[in-house]
Amino acid sequence: MTENAENNELNALVEDIRARCVEYAEKKGYVLNPDAKHLETILKGLARLKTKYGEEYCPCRVRSGDKEKDKANICPCAFHEKEIEEDGCCHCQLFFRK
Ligand code: SF4
Repeated sequence: MTENAENNELNALVEDIRARCVEYAEKKGYVLNPDAKHLETILKGLARLKTKYGEEYCPCRVRSGDKEKDKANICPCAFHEKEIEEDGCCHCQLFFRK
């Protein structure tokens, strides 16, 4: 695949993830990070990990390589609700409490 085609594919995936995150945030009463630059970094990180490993693993946590264990790290991860409740946002600062 050419670099251009790869970029187009990655950008399409970023938009797909963004749409799902917006929908999820609305359902849960969260908002996405208003800092557009940070938001892009996280969304691109999720898209890259999906392309590389087949799942949208948390870009801010280390994968163990064990698929079963790493399930907890698939976004939205198993930890985000508690983090948002306690800290106001998830570890990656993707989702924020309203
Ligand atoms: S910390 Fe946030 S961005 Fe990372 S996986 Fe959890 S919900 Fe997704």
